[in-house]
Amino acid sequence: MNEKVKSGVSEHRPKPEAKVCVVTGGADGIGWACVQHFAAEGYRVALIDLRASHATARAAELGEGHLGMGADVADEAAIRATMSEIAAHYGRIDVLVNNAGIGEPKAATLDQSLEAFDRMFAVHVRGTFVASREAARVMLAQRAGAIVNLCSIAGRAGIPTRNAYGAAKAAIESLTRSLACEWAREGVRVNAVAPGYVATELVDTLVRNGQLDLAAIERRTPLGRLAEPLEIARAVAFLASDAASYVTGTVLNVDGGWLAYGGV
Ligand code: NAD
Repeated sequence: MNEKVKSGVSEHRPKPEAKVCVVTGGADGIGWACVQHFAAEGYRVALIDLRASHATARAAELGEGHLGMGADVADEAAIRATMSEIAAHYGRIDVLVNNAGIGEPKAATLDQSLEAFDRMFAVHVRGTFVASREAARVMLAQRAGAIVNLCSIAGRAGIPTRNAYGAAKAAIESLTRSLACEWAREGVRVNAVAPGYVATELVDTLVRNGQLDLAAIERRTPLGRLAEPLEIARAVAFLASDAASYVTGTVLNVDGGWLAYGGV
């Protein structure tokens, strides 16, 4: 836990003016696309992931000045320690992307277990709450910051057999609004994106296991295809940027028109 790589940080301290972005679940998929996008924009990025060695390897891949750290977002003590290490290292946190998440295998409600339900809520809802609270200790002191949460079309429309996932994402929407209202006058904005189906390992696994029908998704999506992770990262970066300075408490659908579609 809290294993990290200092990609040249001891010899190459980040420039004081470089902004800092923290991405949870940053080692793969949408998180990794966000990490790369923010790094390309000049941010110092700290990526936190369940898989510590993958996180450290990703940070090394990015180059000097970035951090890769291992922690489970559902573990309060680990996230508190990790976030305070990041703050101590860089002296600031400008952006937090609450991205860490897990998929839910399709199962009839009568066959769903409480353990799986609770784990889904622990990763998504508790993880988003704890990481936001800990990052906000720094952001509120700075009187500046932006948080972007990963929601889903599954939290905005009923998707049968995926109760916990949809409910967890809907709960993150609620957190997005309440935190946005609480911190608005202290310079911290909180928003979310709600992606449709995105071409990542999370979706690949469900497709491989016969849990998702790719052709049916493409037919059901007005744009006719899955999103690329970068297309979600760009929306996240917009909400985190000064271009969205008057946007807070909102959930932006990035779903190829999936939620707009009402046809048969
Ligand atoms: P992914 O499985 O490709 O990557 C998720 C990353 O999070 C992995 O690196 C994984 O190790 C990490 N992770 C998982 N559990 C963690 C934990 N407890 N603590 C720390 N790290 C953890 O997933 P993805 O498709 O990129 O999804 C990212 C986010 O986007 C999730 O919140 C997901 O619910 C959401 N989302 C995805 C899709 C999609 O179609 N892929 C659609 C809507 C929303």
